[in-house]
Amino acid sequence: MADADSFTHPTVVDLRSDTVTRPTDGMRKAMAEAEVGDDVYGEDPTVSALEERVAAMFGHEAALFVPSGTMGNQIGMRLVCEPGQEVLCDADAHVVTYEMGAAAAIFGISTRTVVSDRGLLDAEALIAQVRPKGDWHLTSTAAIAVENTHNRGFGRVQPLGELRRLWEWSRGTGVAVHLDGARIWNAHVASGVPLSTYGSLADTASVCFSKGLGTPVGSVLVASAERIATARLWRKRLGGGMRQVGVLAAACQYALDAHLPRLGEDHEHARLLAELLGVDPATVETNMVVLDDVAAPLLAEAARAEGVLVSQVSPRRVRLVTHLDVERAGIQRAAEVLNRLLDR
Ligand SMILES: *Cc1c(COP(=O)(O)O)cnc(C)c1O
Repeated sequence: MADADSFTHPTVVDLRSDTVTRPTDGMRKAMAEAEVGDDVYGEDPTVSALEERVAAMFGHEAALFVPSGTMGNQIGMRLVCEPGQEVLCDADAHVVTYEMGAAAAIFGISTRTVVSDRGLLDAEALIAQVRPKGDWHLTSTAAIAVENTHNRGFGRVQPLGELRRLWEWSRGTGVAVHLDGARIWNAHVASGVPLSTYGSLADTASVCFSKGLGTPVGSVLVASAERIATARLWRKRLGGGMRQVGVLAAACQYALDAHLPRLGEDHEHARLLAELLGVDPATVETNMVVLDDVAAPLLAEAARAEGVLVSQVSPRRVRLVTHLDVERAGIQRAAEVLNRLLDR
């Protein structure tokens, strides 16, 4: 096993997740120079500017800066779902897999899931499961949560036609759509679909800055002005009221200017990695590559000993994620090490 030093060693290629990036010098400079104020008083100009910018990008009235994507998702869902009602989503959705049962534990929201083909949105399959309001037998469905790109679907981009189908169906039914857009930037870059189009197909949406955009922390929730006013109360209630966090919002502003335009490089690197590893590039839509039918624990440990870090997602499956801190040379080195270990 590698020691702690290896995590900061420059030759380590860390492909476990796109969350492992470190703020760049330019980002640190932007953070250091940020104008700040007390954001609980609504007086941090850098946070307010970020909220306005992100709301506008997604075509929503308002936005709220939150510490994590989990908080963005959970508040977003609570805005459109009352305790005792349910949110419907796919069985591998982040909101039910990796958020510690928050919807139930904190908000009294029930969740029901539909099995999908590696996270692929199937509007009909979800719509078929919706339960109406006003029936004294049934838990009513208040919202449907959609994830784009899909994390456990290995960076899959949701088809615009399915998103539209779900949205158009939902209007007039009283069922809201929440978008978990932690990696919506990757979807936008891969598909060319404008962020405002994705925004127009959701009542509430949470987007992350700490994944492909490379900030240390931060997510933004977008919705109507009325809903965001309520979200502000929920954020404070959950302990997410932050003070001079313009330093963090400045990192997000910097990421939109400097890192969003380069996100396509991560996708190119993922395709290159797939090619070098003999993985079908057609399975690589954004910044994730999957190695199937491998002895995941053995491979991960052996790769780590050579300075290549990967994620085991199951005993037979390894996930590789490209990001800002891995350059082309790192991709080549990782492929060389993995191919050798796999005897390919
Ligand atoms: C990372 C991620 C989130 C948010 O995670 P936090 O660690 O709470 O910021 C939400 N949804 C998806 C799909 C993610 O990958």
